[in-house]
Amino acid sequence: MKVILDEARALSEEITAWRRSLHEIPELGLETPKTAAFIVQELKKMGAEDIREKVGGWGVTALVKGALPGKTLAVRADCDALPIKEETGLPFASKNGLMHACGHDAHTAMALGAAKLLLARKSELAGTVKFIFQPAEENVLGAKAMIDDGALENPAVDALIGLHTGCLWKDIGFGEIGVRYGSLMAAVDRFIITFKGKGGHGATPHLAVDPVTMTSTAVLELQTILSRELSPLDPAVLTIGRIEGGRAFNIIAESCTIEGTVRTLSPATRAFVEERIRAIASRVAEGMRGEAEVKYEAGPPALINDTEFTKKFQVFAAGVAGADKVKEISEPTMGGEDVAFFLEKVPGTFFVHGSCNPDKGQVYPHHNPKFDIDEDALPLGSALFAGFALTWQK
Ligand SMILES: [Zn+2]
Ligand SMILES: [Zn+2]
Repeated sequence: MKVILDEARALSEEITAWRRSLHEIPELGLETPKTAAFIVQELKKMGAEDIREKVGGWGVTALVKGALPGKTLAVRADCDALPIKEETGLPFASKNGLMHACGHDAHTAMALGAAKLLLARKSELAGTVKFIFQPAEENVLGAKAMIDDGALENPAVDALIGLHTGCLWKDIGFGEIGVRYGSLMAAVDRFIITFKGKGGHGATPHLAVDPVTMTSTAVLELQTILSRELSPLDPAVLTIGRIEGGRAFNIIAESCTIEGTVRTLSPATRAFVEERIRAIASRVAEGMRGEAEVKYEAGPPALINDTEFTKKFQVFAAGVAGADKVKEISEPTMGGEDVAFFLEKVPGTFFVHGSCNPDKGQVYPHHNPKFDIDEDALPLGSALFAGFALTWQK
């Protein structure tokens, strides 16, 4: 299947041009109308079928229908940018105060490249390939919105593949591919707890109920969920990033609020930590004559790669990129990715595509105003999407 890489390389100018065009028009979150219009325009030009616009907002889906019967594989590319003022100095740098500082411009360009490669090989394609161009990955709202609007239906998607480019994993260098079996990224939840007491004078605490004391106790107690209740071999993070209460040195506040995030790698641990946060918060408050109001907002679930599908992909990728270029990622990260909403519904794999080239000065991390990737890595991403779509059912 190495030939698909040659075909992708022949398209490299076009894939690079798409990436640069997208790079110049970064948009945020769910509001990606220009990006969507560009994607639709290019899909129409190349002859993609059944192009659906405004899927869950500004999401776009399109099909490449193979001549042979078979299942439906989805290729997912996110396409949103970040509120960062670009400092790369590139000739195609954005000028609107926003920036593709995570490489989602490249994801979209590589998926467009794969669509074009597959359209040229429809006669040998079994089944259908559905391209999903998703806004709002950074604020984790896009995948769910698209799924709720039917992105995985008509035709029903049987499996899904996606990638993240750049230098998120230090072990996956330029031109290398990282795969992982099982959990790759964490579930990302948010909680807000308001401790309610009874305000009063700082000189007469016995006449008041102090929510700041409740909060202080709870901040420490909540960490014991991880240190005393979970197995030390079961990774979880609980971070309280905001604490707010009180207005003056001599007033006992009415209430005090904390806000934090929970990161877990398994559904069971996720449910357990939520239950224990609720219990500890309310019992600490009750024990001090107050009340706790707990809001727990579930974000994307843990990103779990299907073992069998990932194995197939790893073997395939090694055939295209070379076995020495395809590495197994040894550790998951407690960061999140909303592709997990798709992979919760259908099996698949999300792989890592190394594209920062230190020899070209690409040493800046994701979300940095100087973040950049080496466009020479783009054809490999397109080739992997397209080539795998041609072979995964065999
Ligand atoms: Zn990002
Ligand atoms: Zn990203």
